[in-house]
Amino acid sequence: MPQRQKLVIVGNGMAPGRMLEELLKRSPRAYDITIFNAEPRVNYDRIMLSPVLSAEKTFEDIIIHDDDWYAANDITLHKGKRVARIDRDAKVVEAEDGTAASYDRLVLATGSSPFIIPVPGHDLPGVLAYRDLDDVDAMVEAAEHGGKAVVIGGGLLGLEAAAGLQMRGMDVTVIHLMPTLMERQLDTAAGHLLRQAVEARGIKVLTEANTQSITEKDGKVAGVQIEDGRLLPADIVVMAVGIKPSSGIAKDAGLTVGRGISVDDTLCTSDPAVSAVGECVEHRGMCYGLVAPLYEMAKTLAANLAGEEASYTGSVTSTKLKVTGINLFSAGDFADAEGREEIVLRDASNGVYRRLVLEDNRIVGAVLYGDVADGAWFFDLIKRSTDISEMRDTVIFGQGFAGGTPLDPTAAVAALPDDGEICGCNGICKGTIVEAIGELGLKDVEGVRMHTKASASCGSCTGLVEQLLTLSLGDDYDPAGVPPMCGCTDLGHGDVRRLIVAKNLKTIPDVMQELEWTSSCGCAKCRPALNYYLLATWPGEYTDDNQSRFINERVHANIQKDGTYSVVPRMWGGITSADELRAIADVTDKFNVPTVKVTGGQRIDLLGIQKEDLPAVWADLNAAGLVSGHAYGKALRTVKTCVGTDWCRFGTQDSTGFGIRIEKFMWGSWTPAKVKMAVSGCPRNCSEATCKDVGVICVDSGYEIHFAGAAGLEIKGTVVLGHASTEDEALEIIVAVTQLYREQAYYLERIHKWAARVGVDTVREQIMDDVERRKALFERFCYSQKFSQIDPWAERVQGDQAHEFMPLADLTRMQAAE
Ligand SMILES: Cc1cc2nc3c(=O)[nH]c(=O)nc-3n(C[C@H](O)[C@H](O)[C@H](O)COP(=O)(O)OP(=O)(O)OC[C@H]3O[C@@H](n4cnc5c(N)ncnc54)[C@H](O)[C@@H]3O)c2cc1C
Ligand code: SF4
Repeated sequence: MPQRQKLVIVGNGMAPGRMLEELLKRSPRAYDITIFNAEPRVNYDRIMLSPVLSAEKTFEDIIIHDDDWYAANDITLHKGKRVARIDRDAKVVEAEDGTAASYDRLVLATGSSPFIIPVPGHDLPGVLAYRDLDDVDAMVEAAEHGGKAVVIGGGLLGLEAAAGLQMRGMDVTVIHLMPTLMERQLDTAAGHLLRQAVEARGIKVLTEANTQSITEKDGKVAGVQIEDGRLLPADIVVMAVGIKPSSGIAKDAGLTVGRGISVDDTLCTSDPAVSAVGECVEHRGMCYGLVAPLYEMAKTLAANLAGEEASYTGSVTSTKLKVTGINLFSAGDFADAEGREEIVLRDASNGVYRRLVLEDNRIVGAVLYGDVADGAWFFDLIKRSTDISEMRDTVIFGQGFAGGTPLDPTAAVAALPDDGEICGCNGICKGTIVEAIGELGLKDVEGVRMHTKASASCGSCTGLVEQLLTLSLGDDYDPAGVPPMCGCTDLGHGDVRRLIVAKNLKTIPDVMQELEWTSSCGCAKCRPALNYYLLATWPGEYTDDNQSRFINERVHANIQKDGTYSVVPRMWGGITSADELRAIADVTDKFNVPTVKVTGGQRIDLLGIQKEDLPAVWADLNAAGLVSGHAYGKALRTVKTCVGTDWCRFGTQDSTGFGIRIEKFMWGSWTPAKVKMAVSGCPRNCSEATCKDVGVICVDSGYEIHFAGAAGLEIKGTVVLGHASTEDEALEIIVAVTQLYREQAYYLERIHKWAARVGVDTVREQIMDDVERRKALFERFCYSQKFSQIDPWAERVQGDQAHEFMPLADLTRMQAAE
């Protein structure tokens, strides 16, 4: 076999990430690939740092290629190694720590670095930039202490940083040198509207404010001194005033460098063995700071590296601001110039502003504020340089009115070409979304988000994604498939969960106020759901609202059809003892319990107990060491076990012991719906683990972990989640998948429904393939358990929740104890 050529890449940002995907598609075995990255991590979606800052996403959500991806593609990734030198004669690069690699082809993808204004105090602790995850971590840490933040720079990054810090509870002021915000992307009118919207969120804005110095107290930042004499107190200062291409190592190596590393249309530098891609590049006099042009460069470079002929001739860019609730779009060049005309639409009452700049009857620039639905269409007209003479009178109203196109948004999206961009934030085109809907059988926006990332950032393209679903699925697409939570809101469960995190909402009244509930106190549908979402999102911070629970959960017992209650004590793993049985027998006699029944989950159910006797029954059971079995709750109900190696000649592991361990570890936490588990000691499966929410089949080599089964109204066998070699590993997997379910599922959605909605493969990837993520989920579950493992019977016996029998309208639900 001929020896593979050596490809070395310096920098591991979004541009080389996309370039590698394209290269591996075209020519998977062409190169032996090594990457050096100064950041100590894998490739992630940098543009999604703002949702991480605002707590709408976690870092795990924005990883593009995880460790397994590099391993699977046989790529060596040197994390945290900054290349210091390139020896072009020897064709070797060397990192600061001496790690070296030789190359046949070298790709420089060093991106940009933030520009720091060299005013006095710029290097004080507490002065931050906004470029990478470390910056976000520093901002999040600072925001934990509250206080004041000053953001220098009212451009895209500055405003996203300001919004994120404000959502994390800081008092934020933006200072901007120019008279209007985002002046590079917006004209004055749109800049004015944007300022109003930013201020309406509680962020102060000072324009025409020039930073003179950053002041210090106790060795750290204390404020920002503006040239006009004003002094703004600050606990942190974020500088977001621009970027400069990182071209230092290219320059030192003698490559031609202007503002960035100079490349030709094949992305080749002045040395034929060295290419460059991304923000570090200067191409035809342009340096780009947005991802779409970098992805176009990446495609061209990949084709060239794969031996094809391709050229890049430059890009038109468009921008959207990723701040929830602010809709703006700008594309192309909208500066006034000779020979240019403009068409403007203002609808002040609806907060809509549109401006198109024309040259020779072609749109060269567009600014939309308020209603950005036609952004993709205008952008396409700009990119294609379409002659709009025939629709000139109506073009400003958008595609629905233009040139006789039917007034039908779906037809408008149908008319977009496959490479028409739908999601500007993530650079996702129409073709990619349509293909994913068809191939993966996606049925709703949530699925498209999950699998393509379209609409997963600012969400402004959600309408377009919905049109694509309508186009692809016809009547099978049911927009009401994502129904509102209840009559009190138009928002679906997914949006409510997301916004609780994003807007840092910590009480039910906060949620109702901020998310504009139409009723004063919610209803029987939304209150229990909100109570669960807040409990699961803010463990230790949110106090359970007992009055927002169904009757069974409020009285810690299942109401029966005659108005009496059933009481099910917990029997760990289905094991009991003479003392426990004696206590149950005594309670049965003492309270004249008419029926004692063994349940399908290996528990004993005492049926027909009078409401007023419940606390006394619990007290007696508690005295014998029996606690609530949560047979009434949206929580872990039972872990059913077989006798395993203790008694059975087929047993391969201690299934009983493991079942007890799982139950003792996991009881108490609230879940979106009831959770039932089982452990079988061998594939004969006597505890019926393969129809449970989570089931374990012990085998000689360890533990096969299953999930997403059902055996109620629906019957469904489980699917295999993965294999664990040790009991500890198996426990970690089970806990992590339960926590993922707790974090992602909608209230009352069983595990198998959640798995079907988000995709079994997606769950597997997050739990089995991404070990770091699994460990983080495990840790989060453990943390939440600190506040959950309290026996509600004991609490009630001690006099807590004395009002639990007060009725909450319409909440009564019959439930069978199992
Ligand atoms: C907060 C934020 C929000 C953004 N929002 C948007 C948006 O909404 N839309 C949009 O289109 N764009 C947005 N961008 C811009 C977009 O993220 C960038 O255009 C894109 O990430 C640049 O990709 P790149 O691969 O060229 O460089 P980068 O992603 O910057 O990657 C360069 C990498 O190279 C590493 N490196 C540098 N020098 C060396 C060296 N000598 N040795 C080894 N490694 C080195 C760096 O550490 C870095 O990890 C945003 C950027 C930020 C920071
Ligand atoms: S599942 Fe296997 S180990 Fe468990 S009781 Fe049945 S046969 Fe025995």
